[in-house]
Amino acid sequence: MKKFMDENFLLQTETAQKLYHEHAANMPIFDYHCHIPPQQIAEDKKFKNLTEIWLAGDHYKWRAMRTNGVDERFCTGDASDWEKFEKWAETVPHTLRNPLYHWTHLELKKFFGIDKLLSPETAREIWDECNAKLNTDEYSCRNIIRKANVNTICTTDDPIDSLEYHKAIKEDGFEVAVLPAWRPDKAMMVEDIILFNDYVDQLADVANVEIDSFDAYIAAIEKRHQFFHENGCRLSDHGLETAYAEDYTEKEINNIFDKIRSGIELNEEEILKFKSCMLYEFGIMDHAKGWTQQYHFGAIRNNSTRLFSKLGPDTGFDSIGDFQIAQPLSKFLDRLDQQNKLSQTILYNLNPSDNEIYATMLGNFQDGSVPGKMQYGSGWWFLDQKDGMEKQMNALSNLGLLSRFVGMLTDSRSYLSYSRHEYFRRTLCNLLGNDVENGEIPYDMELLGSMVENICFNNAKNYFKF
Ligand SMILES: [Zn+2]
Repeated sequence: MKKFMDENFLLQTETAQKLYHEHAANMPIFDYHCHIPPQQIAEDKKFKNLTEIWLAGDHYKWRAMRTNGVDERFCTGDASDWEKFEKWAETVPHTLRNPLYHWTHLELKKFFGIDKLLSPETAREIWDECNAKLNTDEYSCRNIIRKANVNTICTTDDPIDSLEYHKAIKEDGFEVAVLPAWRPDKAMMVEDIILFNDYVDQLADVANVEIDSFDAYIAAIEKRHQFFHENGCRLSDHGLETAYAEDYTEKEINNIFDKIRSGIELNEEEILKFKSCMLYEFGIMDHAKGWTQQYHFGAIRNNSTRLFSKLGPDTGFDSIGDFQIAQPLSKFLDRLDQQNKLSQTILYNLNPSDNEIYATMLGNFQDGSVPGKMQYGSGWWFLDQKDGMEKQMNALSNLGLLSRFVGMLTDSRSYLSYSRHEYFRRTLCNLLGNDVENGEIPYDMELLGSMVENICFNNAKNYFKF
């Protein structure tokens, strides 16, 4: 029997252990997509306790707690921070075989040096020890980022964001690059005309453009795109159910936009046409500035109306959708490619049954200009666990080039989630180690070692050219 989570956790072979300890472990982290608020980094926030840094905003943990029968009061409600932590500690032993069990103990070990397992018996002791540490300067946001050996962070920002905190971080001379990333989802959310018009008005203000036509709308967005570029942004991201690639004419889009601005609801066809047009326009903008574009496809969101109306979005009521993807995705990418305006692209799927669809789709648009121009993004959200990561890497290996993969990102709201890179790296080294053990790939540590270092860091560094 192996020891639980010792230094060779997830590393089943000697080759995997060598690859991890000698090549993966010390590579810096290039976190090209996350949801950390830049304000916290700008202010170098210190967290008052373990609940604030660990449970607040973590819908993965809330879902597990609800499933374990914990009342909402202890997840998102008005219970005290200690009470919330106590309920989490009660839940942890019930998360065996869920990745939360691994992440929890990796995070306690990596950041706080705690080897004990979290349970009701150890809750008080772990709470006190972590809180004492969190109250020291060593545990400020920036020092946690330094401790995790992070080289670059890309946040997630709306086009109307002032980027004031990014500017402040830069002016401060923080040695880790903290860059904005362009997330214009709200700029195409025309299902809700009132919210959308409100957004257009805010955009008009921020861009200082009078938006009286679709052309003016695009001009205002372009102005913000330029502003993001001037502030170091080289990367966009879209969270969408599926790709939108309906046919449309300029006249149709102008009419649809006028209709929106007059406050008239759109029908389904008009919504699809408008979204298809916006997605294309965003792709054109990214290409013009040499940005990379990311697409996170396939979440079905806010499924519980009752709890959405109480708690709002991103609170743990989203799941894996089954939207049709192959055809619209092909048409969308081809539309840009036909104009020779397809940027470097990373595609993430949430439905694991789509893995091979994505991994083969990318091959259609590789054009020899850049290694791995079209990237198959790392296992995301419900798939960022051992099984999901292995399946993503196997699909990529079978149908593309694993060696050109830009690797892991945290996609998290928590500073402690950097340990997911360790989890990913161990999983990667283990896959390669098993192949060596089985005689399926050569025992060439120079080749394998550099491949591991590239996937952990160098590929991303070279690909994004920030
Ligand atoms: Zn994300």
